[in-house]
Amino acid sequence: MAKKNIDWGNIGFGYVVTDKRYVSYYKGGTWDDGALIEDDKIVMSEDAGVLQYSQSVFEGLKAYTTEDGHIVCFRPDLNASRMAESARRLEMPVFPEDRFIDAVKQTVKANQDWVPPYGTGATLYIRPYMFGISPVIGVNPAEEYMFRIFVTPVGPYFKGGAKPIVVRISDFDRAAPRGTGHIKAGLNYAMSLHAIVDAHKKGFAENIYLDPATRTKIEETGGANIIFVDHDGNLVIPASDSILPSITRRSIHYVAEHYLGLKVTEREVYLSEVKEGKFVECGLCGTAAVVSPVGIINDHGEEIRFASGTEKMGPVTQKLYDTLTGIQMGRIEAPEGWIVKIC
Ligand SMILES: *Cc1c(COP(=O)(O)O)cnc(C)c1O
Repeated sequence: MAKKNIDWGNIGFGYVVTDKRYVSYYKGGTWDDGALIEDDKIVMSEDAGVLQYSQSVFEGLKAYTTEDGHIVCFRPDLNASRMAESARRLEMPVFPEDRFIDAVKQTVKANQDWVPPYGTGATLYIRPYMFGISPVIGVNPAEEYMFRIFVTPVGPYFKGGAKPIVVRISDFDRAAPRGTGHIKAGLNYAMSLHAIVDAHKKGFAENIYLDPATRTKIEETGGANIIFVDHDGNLVIPASDSILPSITRRSIHYVAEHYLGLKVTEREVYLSEVKEGKFVECGLCGTAAVVSPVGIINDHGEEIRFASGTEKMGPVTQKLYDTLTGIQMGRIEAPEGWIVKIC
């Protein structure tokens, strides 16, 4: 076994076929034993539930090499339970949470030559997912399902420093009240593609979605939760039933309170408060970037500029970023159970 010959510092965020993937099949009311396989292709019916009615859910987490040379992953139990929630909402069978964690470990271990070395900034992205595979023509849940995990190495999110991004307030909604915004389903992304392509065309990095019922409150972007820092240096996190419960955001909440001694409030955040200048820093959080600073929010031509500016991360965002990545990389002691050693 030897590390793959890859220029780790210069890989992007793209899909690379790695050696092994995990697959388990659900049929007749039970999951089979599951196995690691080499075939990266899937053969299915032209009428598979996923192809007709988008019955699919997914997760995303990372494995990385710590300072002392171990391969670990971060809070996979939360991915397991979130995927179970997502599956229930789409009438899919739950892949048992303990088996989910075991399958993540097996898949990473089988691809350990693809785990980027410590210090490169690159990581191994892990994609568990599940979909209806048996034929469905009347609108019904499928009877058979496939659960799979593949991994792919991804480069450092911030090349040459984390420069704050410019985002816009979207005219589209990403989630309906009492809809599926709180689960990690492909369908939430399909309907966001038009908005993100249009945002990029107009020079914005992301869309901020408002609450769909009143369009007065901040929800999240297409793939990341939002955090704000107020004038007292405390954290304010938008709350809503249609926000996807980001594991990064929940971890940042804990780190802010227990490691940095900040006050953290999760509450409804009105766009008007943001315009009034209540917040001095803003960041997007998710597995990919951990925290990505926002310099400007553009609301139909009106610019909301954060005091932290457009050159570098604000001081509180930076501290949160450093502390959380320090915990992940083994430089700072982690709370019990956060870091799961794979090998
Ligand atoms: C996955 C995702 C996030 C980030 O969640 P993490 O668990 O932190 O990676 C945020 N918003 C949406 C809509 C997502 O799908």
